[in-house]
Amino acid sequence: MSTDKIKTNLADVESKIDKVSTEPVTLVAVSKQQPDERIDAALDAGQRVFGENRVQEAMSRWAHRRASYPDLTLHLIGPLQTNKAAEAVALFDVIEVVDREKLAAALAKEMAKQDRHLPCLVQVNTGEEEQKSGIRPQDTKTFVHHCQSHHGLNITGLMCIPPADEEPAMHFALLAKLAAECGLPVLSMGMSGDYPEAITFGATSVRVGSAIFGARLPRQ
Ligand SMILES: *Cc1c(COP(=O)(O)O)cnc(C)c1O
Repeated sequence: MSTDKIKTNLADVESKIDKVSTEPVTLVAVSKQQPDERIDAALDAGQRVFGENRVQEAMSRWAHRRASYPDLTLHLIGPLQTNKAAEAVALFDVIEVVDREKLAAALAKEMAKQDRHLPCLVQVNTGEEEQKSGIRPQDTKTFVHHCQSHHGLNITGLMCIPPADEEPAMHFALLAKLAAECGLPVLSMGMSGDYPEAITFGATSVRVGSAIFGARLPRQ
């Protein structure tokens, strides 16, 4: 994947977003498992918002780049173990994956300790899949309220990853409905295969990896 190709891909994704959105949409470029030269090409093209799903991998990719790009915004989009909460709070700017009480408590404690009060999203398991993390749809409102009132977390919205083998539309619609019920403005939904559709259902933030960077490298 050449530097030019990454720039063309980015422009293409941005124009597709513009075509379907009436409100501003945040493009989170998902850089997990991508080689350095592709990341640098995206930075060179002006992209500043990136998503990563593993804390360790994100630290090795972004800790040193922070110095050169003070306007970076890093989103954590993958499951977080409570014992990594300290590192996650120190590195990331948005935590999209608040998915259980124990993690909410650990994040609140770390944010207080580091005096870094990051915006957080609650991950909702819209497909109620066994293997997927996230709060059940019917428990979302109570959990969001608990995170806000008990833990003092700054919950700005909801995030979901629809089941791979289903039409995503009903999941996007459900997440939008839940966010409205909770009075939350941010909706993180839509990936390379379906971000335009997610936007038509109200996504304010889309997480796009392979459509920008090409296929990911296997993990070591
Ligand atoms: C990897 C990942 C993405 C990006 O997926 P693409 O299909 O490559 O766009 C989006 N969201 C989450 C949570 C991911 O883990």
